[in-house]
Amino acid sequence: MTNTQTLDPELVKILACPADENRPPLRLVGDTLVCDQCGRVYPIRDGIPILLPEEATIPDKPAP
Ligand SMILES: [Zn+2]
Repeated sequence: MTNTQTLDPELVKILACPADENRPPLRLVGDTLVCDQCGRVYPIRDGIPILLPEEATIPDKPAP
């Protein structure tokens, strides 16, 4: 039994960002999931990834 709150890497592989149409893969960073495409950061609560765009953090980015 593991006692970690981070996700199984095998599970991370099948997760995809719900905010992007092409469903890019997410990257596990600490205890969050990061989308490299849109930059959203999804929280993981009690070992459960919260893949809801309204729950995601969008980092401040200067307009291109
Ligand atoms: Zn995304």
